[in-house]
Amino acid sequence: MSSDFGKDKQDFHIGNGRCRYCAKDAPSVVDYKDVNTLQKFMSPQGKLFDRKRLGNCAKHQRAISRAVKRARFLALLRYSGR
Ligand SMILES: [Zn+2]
Repeated sequence: MSSDFGKDKQDFHIGNGRCRYCAKDAPSVVDYKDVNTLQKFMSPQGKLFDRKRLGNCAKHQRAISRAVKRARFLALLRYSGR
């Protein structure tokens, strides 16, 4: 019901739409200690963006989701924003 809902969808866009972890020179393993990278996959509220929006393949989106959960458990990331 908030008019702000979905607004951030418009300005968040990762160009090429390909899975960054499937790229040739990219690390094929998602590092849960790499908090800066993981945060790029998350909204300011601490929610993981959906796969279509990130352009990741299913395999790596799962890996990212696991990495985020692990990082949260280790208090490297927040469970929710603020
Ligand atoms: Zn991939």
